[in-house]
Amino acid sequence: MVCDICGKKGARIRRVTRSCGRGRSTFLIENVPLVTCPSCGESYLTADTLKEIERIRLHWRQLTVVKRMPLAKFGGAA
Ligand SMILES: [Zn+2]
Repeated sequence: MVCDICGKKGARIRRVTRSCGRGRSTFLIENVPLVTCPSCGESYLTADTLKEIERIRLHWRQLTVVKRMPLAKFGGAA
């Protein structure tokens, strides 16, 4: 995709986890698309992404799930 900042092609989307809020109202958003551009080295969120983060921020109590799942690590070979 085209970079919003320098206008060159080659920007890629990386999925990142962002933490929002503070104190007792801290929560995480997974799979946030962060655009990173190898030409200018910038990383940024698109306007649509920011809008969605704002929506999640307003309704996070309804939208978040508390995950407490047992996690095992696979140690064998393929
Ligand atoms: Zn760029």
